[in-house]
Amino acid sequence: MMSLEGTYDEGNVFALILAGKIPSTKLYEDEHTYAFLDIQPQSRGHSLVISKWSKARNILEVEDEALAQVMATVKKVANATRRALDPDGIHVAQFNGAPAGQTVFHLHFHIVPRWEGQPRGFVAHAQGDFADPEELRKLAEEICAQF
Ligand code: AMP
Repeated sequence: MMSLEGTYDEGNVFALILAGKIPSTKLYEDEHTYAFLDIQPQSRGHSLVISKWSKARNILEVEDEALAQVMATVKKVANATRRALDPDGIHVAQFNGAPAGQTVFHLHFHIVPRWEGQPRGFVAHAQGDFADPEELRKLAEEICAQF
């Protein structure tokens, strides 16, 4: 089990996404950051933001510069998600170490739109149903139109 100690695994799933070795549904990209839809969404429009260059596994070890770049993209994606999907709230979350719920050890922030009256929480974190790829593609179109 991976915890706070450890070294960056070049074969982690987000490294493979950045290398183009496995597919992802892109929402936004700039020189330093990449945003894409989560394949096991906690809500409609759940996305993730990562640094393209930082080898930080978690927030404890990330370079301040990479963190600032990632957070600026979190803000952009949250605003585009709001414009596209009109949620009542937006949950921004981040997990450090397996006991805290982290399953992928490349620093990332979750952006989870929330609607009044819908269940929330990361109880079944990274264990929920997989999204339909076609549904994710359509959702990405809606959000991408709002940058
Ligand atoms: P965490 O548990 O905070 O490390 O979050 C990892 C997140 O990555 C979970 O919400 C997973 O559903 C998501 N995830 C895992 N593999 C992929 C993938 N190939 N594409 C998109 N999201 C993924």
